[in-house]
Amino acid sequence: MPIRLNEDRELVSRIKEGLKQKGGYCPCRIQKTEENKCICREFREQMADPDFEGYCHCMLYYKSKN
Ligand code: SF4
Repeated sequence: MPIRLNEDRELVSRIKEGLKQKGGYCPCRIQKTEENKCICREFREQMADPDFEGYCHCMLYYKSKN
């Protein structure tokens, strides 16, 4: 289950800046709830799903199947 950062470095630095400004909560979501703390619940579930391949909601991370 390899996870990597998006290959677009500018996007990565934008999302990281957003995370910093939101105190570690997902910059692509409005609510600052526990499930939206990076790494958010949605992406944790996607990481655990053997059939999932793709980016997290913000496109910061990419998960490949193998
Ligand atoms: S894993 Fe991606 S979508 Fe989830 S909180 Fe972090 S940046 Fe946002």
